[in-house]
Amino acid sequence: MSLKRKITVAYGDGIGPEIMKATLNILHAADAQIDIDVIEIGEQVYLKGISSGMEPGAFESLKETKVFLKSPITTPQGGGFKSLNVTTRTSFGLFANVRPCKAYSPYIKTHYPKTDLVIIRENEEDLYAGIEHRQTDEVFQCLKLISRPGSEKIVRYAFEYAKKYGRKKVTCMTKDNIMKLADGLFHKVFDEIAKEYPTIQTDHKIIDIGTALIAERPDTFDVIVTLNLYGDIISDVAAQVTGSVGLGGSANVGEEVAMFEAIHGSAPDIAGMDMANPSGLLNGAIMMLVHIGQPEVAEKISNAWMRTLEDGIHTGDIFQEGLSSKKVGTQEFAQAVIERLGQSPIHMVPAHFDKSDTTPMQIKLKPAVPVKKTLIGVDVFVDWKEGDRDPNTIGEKLREINANGLTLQLITNRGVKVFPGGMRETFCTDHWRCRFQTADQSVVSHRDILDLLSQVEKLGFDFIKTEQLYAFDGVRAYSLTQGE
Ligand code: NAD
Repeated sequence: MSLKRKITVAYGDGIGPEIMKATLNILHAADAQIDIDVIEIGEQVYLKGISSGMEPGAFESLKETKVFLKSPITTPQGGGFKSLNVTTRTSFGLFANVRPCKAYSPYIKTHYPKTDLVIIRENEEDLYAGIEHRQTDEVFQCLKLISRPGSEKIVRYAFEYAKKYGRKKVTCMTKDNIMKLADGLFHKVFDEIAKEYPTIQTDHKIIDIGTALIAERPDTFDVIVTLNLYGDIISDVAAQVTGSVGLGGSANVGEEVAMFEAIHGSAPDIAGMDMANPSGLLNGAIMMLVHIGQPEVAEKISNAWMRTLEDGIHTGDIFQEGLSSKKVGTQEFAQAVIERLGQSPIHMVPAHFDKSDTTPMQIKLKPAVPVKKTLIGVDVFVDWKEGDRDPNTIGEKLREINANGLTLQLITNRGVKVFPGGMRETFCTDHWRCRFQTADQSVVSHRDILDLLSQVEKLGFDFIKTEQLYAFDGVRAYSLTQGE
């Protein structure tokens, strides 16, 4: 029986096949004990009409091997195609996206030679859940979903990661000054869990200033934990300030399956030119080798790679006149790494991984605390574009409705209160959010809401969705509108 570890490999699109070839050549030369199952994914599969972008057998391979080394792919623009990255992350529960970002100064030019940060990005929720709807002629919606278990899992992972790798500080980044409920939950969970790790410093930054600080003072960060979209953006910023997006690798970790890739995309502008830097995928593969219990091979490759950088053998994206000694293509760079297997960097700190790094982190969630949920109203969204869209016209008509005490309290348009007492200057689209509650915000029933909707329909309005208003343990669980 083979002692080799079976892994699933996808060559991907654009520069994918070139960087995968280079990476696998290095892995084989370093004697990595891997047995490769190649699957077809990406553009060609999408264009065959398979909306997931993966051949049917691909999922079976992943279920069997549980380890996926993946090149970037190109998701065709336009409707009907699901991002296979998102599908793989969510289908296999790959909740943590770990993206280390380190400076390799002076061999790769950066203004911040001390940068050594790790971004831990939530990988399954947020705007990436892909729940989008066109609701009216003018308005499109993308739903942002943030859950307590999802937030707790990633925040715990970040603290456990910091503990395991001796990192000193975990910074949380959110936009909870605006998204008080969704981002507010993530921040709250962070504050709760931080108390369980008293030896680790903690910090919170609003994502906009946080991103600016990563661009300006990346060396002040250690571990950063954040929501899916923000994590995606800041990891490109962080990779770029350390020298090139072509350098960063990433691990997508779940309880059973893990996927390893480069952080960059398929770079169609340089595809097929043997110009791409294979380091991002190689760094992903190094994380994979640690994960599958081959830390000594990971160490050998990482050290040879650093030595190659020190020797000034650089691909075009990191090449610098006067500092680099030779500009090479993708395959020649891989060959240079292979020639240095067994050597260590002279000036940079050599890599060190050990068996303990391969032990998966166990993330245990706290049992949910039961809460009392009460229905206290409903927002009815209406598509309406009559006349000159005067909010008073729709407002006065909807005021005729009374469903067991549920009456119109206010109307907003794109979140701004326009009725009663709106401002003439406010621009209105065809998308109206009409809030119905009883005068004292008392408890209502689903039947009351059904009665209300039938009255809305009788008045001739096109309702496009409803959003129930709840209180949890007596606390209002929906945002107030501006002007409320
Ligand atoms: P990109 O990361 O592919 O390219 C951005 C820029 O960085 C380009 O100028 C490119 O030439 C350069 N670059 C990227 N990787 C490089 C490397 N290894 N060596 C040297 N230079 C490199 O981003 P994009 O252009 O926005 O996206 C292109 C495609 O990739 C899109 O279809 C996008 O959907 C896809 N994408 C895929 C993934 C993934 O599969 N994980 C991630 C991001 C983007």
